[in-house]
Amino acid sequence: MDDLLNALADKGLRGETATRDEALAVLRSPDEALLDVVAAAGKVRRRWFGRRVKLNYLVNLKSGLCPEDCSYCSQRLGSEAGILKYSWLKAEEAADAAEAGVKGGAKRVCVVASGRGPSDRDVERVSRTIEAIKERTGGVEVCACLGLLSPGQAERLRAAGADAYNHNLNTSEATYGDICTTHTYEDRVSTVQQARDAGMSPCSGLIAGMGETDEDLVDVALALRELDADSVPVNFLIPFEGTPLAGEWNLTPRRALRILAMVRFVCPDVEVRLAGGRELHLRSLQPLALHLVNSLFLGDYLTSEGQAGRADLDMIADAGFEVEGPGTSTLPAHRLSGEPHERVAVRRRGTGTELPPNA
Ligand code: SF4
Repeated sequence: MDDLLNALADKGLRGETATRDEALAVLRSPDEALLDVVAAAGKVRRRWFGRRVKLNYLVNLKSGLCPEDCSYCSQRLGSEAGILKYSWLKAEEAADAAEAGVKGGAKRVCVVASGRGPSDRDVERVSRTIEAIKERTGGVEVCACLGLLSPGQAERLRAAGADAYNHNLNTSEATYGDICTTHTYEDRVSTVQQARDAGMSPCSGLIAGMGETDEDLVDVALALRELDADSVPVNFLIPFEGTPLAGEWNLTPRRALRILAMVRFVCPDVEVRLAGGRELHLRSLQPLALHLVNSLFLGDYLTSEGQAGRADLDMIADAGFEVEGPGTSTLPAHRLSGEPHERVAVRRRGTGTELPPNA
C-alpha cells in the first residue's frame, strides 16, 4: 500500500491521473491505511490548492415538479418526498439569497432549477436573475444548473454573465440507464460540452452511494477527467423517503473518505467539491475531508438542510484551512487557458509601457 500511495502522490504532484487499477486499489484499501490514504491525497490537494477552501452557495430557483425520473432525486416525477415545491424565484428574491451567501463567505453562487432543461423563456428569466445577482453582489462568480441545454442556450447564459455551468454525470455510462430512463448519459455529456464550447467553466460531478460498484465509481471519475471538468462535485446519496433509492444506505464515513481520495488522485488539479450528503455520511470525519477537497457548499442543499454556515466556517478554521477570498483564482494557472479573462493583468500603471531603468 505504501508504494502505491507514494506513486499516486508523486503522480498527483505532477498533475497526472491515477490509472483505473490504482483508483480501484484506493477504494479497496483497508481501514488501517485510511490515514495514509488521506495523507497522500492531501499532499496532492495542497500542491494545487494550498490550504484554501472555496465556498459555494446554492440558490434553488425552482423546486420540485420535475417530469424526469432520476431515481436519486427528491424532485423527480411522482416523488413523495415532503420537499418544498415552488416555481421560479423572482430575480430580486434570488439576489437577496445570493447576497446572504456571499456575506457568509461564498465565492460562487449556483443558481439551480429542477426540470429536464430550460425553455428559451426560462433562459431569459435566468439571465435576468444572473444579472441581478451580479449587480447586487459586485460580480460574484455565478454557475447555472438548469438541466439539459438546447442549441444556443449556453451562449445566451454566457452572454448574461454565467461563469460556469453544472451538469453532473452522476454515475458510470454502464449503469446510467439503471438510475434514469427519461434521458441518457450521452445527453448529459453533450450538455457539459455545449457549456464549455460557449465559454463557461464546466462543472460536473457524481453521486456515490446509489448501489454502484467500485468500478462504476472509478469509471465516472475517469469520465469526468476525460471531460476535463474544472470542478467536480462529489455528492453522497441522501436517500429521501418517497424516492426509489430511499432504502440505500451503503456508505460509511471511511468509505466516503476513500471515494474523495480516489477522485482527488484521478482529478489532481481540479476543484473537487464536497457536496450533498456530507453531514449524513462523513459525520464526525467531515474535517478530514478538507484534506482531500478544496471546495464545499455552504449551508443548505437543494431540498435538504445542511449544517449551519457558522459550523462550516468553524470547521474550516479548526482544521487549519482558510476560506478562499474573491481575489484568488481557484484553479492552478495551467488550467486557466479556457478562461482568458483570468490571464489578463489589469493595467494599473499610467500612460506608457513600463521600461527597464536604463532604456
Ligand atoms: S432532471 Fe434534475 S430535477 Fe429532474 S429528476 Fe433529474 S435530477 Fe431531479
